[in-house]
Amino acid sequence: MNEKYDVVILGCGPAGLQAAIHAARKRVSVLVLGKPEASSLYKAHIENYCCVEGVRTGKELLETGIKQAEGFGVDFSREDAVRTEMTEEGFKVEVESGKIISCISLIICTGISRKGLGLKGEKELVGRGISYCVDCDANFYKGAKVAVFGSGSAAVHGALTLKDIASKVYLISNKEFDISPELEAHLKGTEINLFVSRKIKELVADESLKEIVLDDGTRLELDGLFIEQGAKGAMELAAFLGVQLDPERFTHIVVDKDQATNVPGIFAAGDICGTPYQMAKAVGEGCIAGLSAGSFCQKKKRESKEK
Ligand SMILES: Cc1cc2nc3c(=O)[nH]c(=O)nc-3n(C[C@H](O)[C@H](O)[C@H](O)COP(=O)(O)OP(=O)(O)OC[C@H]3O[C@@H](n4cnc5c(N)ncnc54)[C@H](O)[C@@H]3O)c2cc1C
Repeated sequence: MNEKYDVVILGCGPAGLQAAIHAARKRVSVLVLGKPEASSLYKAHIENYCCVEGVRTGKELLETGIKQAEGFGVDFSREDAVRTEMTEEGFKVEVESGKIISCISLIICTGISRKGLGLKGEKELVGRGISYCVDCDANFYKGAKVAVFGSGSAAVHGALTLKDIASKVYLISNKEFDISPELEAHLKGTEINLFVSRKIKELVADESLKEIVLDDGTRLELDGLFIEQGAKGAMELAAFLGVQLDPERFTHIVVDKDQATNVPGIFAAGDICGTPYQMAKAVGEGCIAGLSAGSFCQKKKRESKEK
């Protein structure tokens, strides 16, 4: 992985892979971030994708897509983006290991992930102690006792953010953390209370959340529980860059027919742009986003040569 690319793609699912293939064929340098095993496609079995006969596993399709993109010169790094920022030349993307990559254009293909725990009372307590977004709700918990549940970069970054806001932070994961060694070292150097290989069994509440009970019987008194499963949510990354989300539910990125967002240089494709959540749509939009981002970079480069 280099420090500079023309195009950085957030997401290694079908949208990100197709975007990478089409951008690379426009002769621009391309980096794809993200984990294929975190793609919705990874566990799917596909039999409704045009020109592919029979039932194919998503895992197999993703592996083929990665090889194909690598054949066109695309670089891959199986790390999540944890921060994005606009610069004069384009964008900066910080990844889990702390490295910062700059690019002219960014394509957001992070899919959708707002996985709940399916616990009794969970839905009713959203906004009254349960949240799915640290970046959105952390400030409501100043000086409070909070826990974050999850094993990926979103959960760990969430806990690190909360440690400067809340009075006590627990981080609970039902398995070993799925994060870079650098992030793990950073986490272990803090006072965040870790519970690894533990599940949340029960939520105790009256009007709002009061306590959670873990599967070993441990009871934690809490004001807030953040459920952050998966990677850093696209919505947080997008919102920081001023990317417009759908005005009703803030769950999807708004794009035009070129898959361009309202921010010049940022494109989006796939499930993150809305329904239907289907591979065919993700691939189609990825193709357009890749071509658009490639053209955007070529134009920017021409303009800077002319200066
Ligand atoms: C069980 C199941 C069965 C399905 N069956 C079908 C089917 O039969 N036919 C069909 O057409 N579709 C099916 N789908 C839907 C299909 O899988 C999705 O529509 C498709 O995968 C969407 O592609 P995507 O690239 O937009 O997102 P995803 O495939 O979800 O990929 C998102 C990528 O973004 C990455 N990412 C997330 N956050 C970050 C971050 N912060 N930084 C970097 N990377 C990040 C993830 O690691 C992942 O690689 C199924 C889905 C599921 C869950």
